[in-house]
Amino acid sequence: MNVHDLLYGELAAWISNAIVAVIVTLMFVISLRLFLDRRKKGYMSMTISLVIVGIHHLLQMALALRSYNPSLTSYTLHMLGIISFVLINMGIYQLYNRTSRRQYIFFYGLIVMGFVVSVLHFSIPQLYSGTEQQVRLLQDIGFELYIFVIIFLCFYMIPPYIGQQMKYQLALTIFFAQQLVHLMNTYMYGSAQPALTLAGNVLPIVYYFLLFLLLFERVVELMQAIYNSSITDGLTRLYNRKFFYTRVSQHIQRHIPIAVLFSDIDNFKKLNDTQGHQMGDQVLKQVAQIMKEEAEECGIAGRYGGEEMVVMVSDPGVKMESFAERIRSRIEKETIVTASIGYSKYKNGLTADELIKQADEAMYKAKTTGKNKVVKYS
Ligand code: GH3
Ligand code: MG
Ligand code: MG
Repeated sequence: MNVHDLLYGELAAWISNAIVAVIVTLMFVISLRLFLDRRKKGYMSMTISLVIVGIHHLLQMALALRSYNPSLTSYTLHMLGIISFVLINMGIYQLYNRTSRRQYIFFYGLIVMGFVVSVLHFSIPQLYSGTEQQVRLLQDIGFELYIFVIIFLCFYMIPPYIGQQMKYQLALTIFFAQQLVHLMNTYMYGSAQPALTLAGNVLPIVYYFLLFLLLFERVVELMQAIYNSSITDGLTRLYNRKFFYTRVSQHIQRHIPIAVLFSDIDNFKKLNDTQGHQMGDQVLKQVAQIMKEEAEECGIAGRYGGEEMVVMVSDPGVKMESFAERIRSRIEKETIVTASIGYSKYKNGLTADELIKQADEAMYKAKTTGKNKVVKYS
C-alpha cells in the first residue's frame, strides 16, 4: 500500500465510503430515536432517506470491489441517489416544519420527475447508436443534470423555512461541488484527474459531516426547548412552581441567605368578570414581565398559582423592603391592576415550604389590611 493508493486509488474511494457509512449510521440512529420518541411523521423521511443513503453507499462500495454488473447498477445508483437526496432535504425541512400537502407534492414531485428522467435513460439505447461507452454516458446525463435542478430548487426554496440556514446552504454547495467534480471526472477526464478524484472522495465526507452537525444541533435545540417548557409557565414565561420550589430548596440546602417575595394581584376575579379572560391574561403577562425584569439581576421569578407570582432573591445586597416596594409601585403605575406583596427572609432551620408559607402569610396580611401594599413577615 502506498500514499497514492490511499489518496487516489480504489482504496481511497473505499475509505471515503466507509467514513460516510459511519456518519450516516450515526445520523440514522439519531433520527430513528427522534422518530420513535416523538412519533412525528415528519421524522420518518429523514430516517428512511438515511436507509436509502446507506444502501446507496453499500452498493457503491460493492461496485468499488467490482462484484456488480456496472450497467445494471448504474440506473439503480442514480435513482437511489435522487430519491435519497430529495428525502434528506425533505427530512431537514421537516426538522423545522409541519409538512402540509403542498410540501409533500413538491418533494414527491421531485422524485416522480426523477422517474420521468428515467424514461430518457431507457430510450437512449434505441434512439442513439454509438459505442457502448458513449451510450452509457449519454444515458446518465439526464440524471446528472436533474440533480442540479434539485440542488438549485432546494437552495432557494428551503432555507427561509429552517434554522441553521448557512450550514444547510454550505452543505448544498458542497454537494453541488461534489456533483460537479463527478461530472468533470466522468465526462471530461474519464476518471484520470488525481486532484478531482481526491476531491470526489473528500467532498462526500464533508457533506455528510455537515448534515450530521445540522441534525445533531437540531436535536440539542429540541431537547433544550422541551426542558425549557418543562420548567416554565406557558402564559407568563416565568418559571413554574415546581422549578421555583426546587431552586429555593437548593439554596436552603446550601445555607445561602435568600428571601422570598410573594405577590397576589388584587381583585383579579373582578377584572376577569368585567373585562374578560383575555384581558386578564394580558395583565398577567404585564405583571410577570415586571417581575422578570426586577428579578433578573438578583434572583428568579416564578408563577406560583393563578395570579400569584413569586421571586426568590439570592443577592444578599438587595434591600427587600425597597425591592418589594419598587415592584408594587411599578405594577400600580404600568398596569391597570395593583398587587399585595409579602416577603420573608431565610433564617437557619427553615425549610423551603416554611419560608414560602411565611411570605404567603405576609401577603395575606397585606390583603386583609387594605391591599396594594408591602408587608414583611414577622
Ligand atoms: P384578591 O384581591 O383577594 O386576591 O381577589 P382576587 O379576585 O384576585 O382573588 P381570587 O383568588 O378570588 O381570584 C383569583 C382569580 O384569578 C380567579 C381566576 O379567575 C383568576 N385566574 C387565575 N388564573 C388565571 C389565568 O391564567 N388567566 C386569567 N385571565 N385569570 C386567571
Ligand atoms: Mg389568589
Ligand atoms: Mg388575587
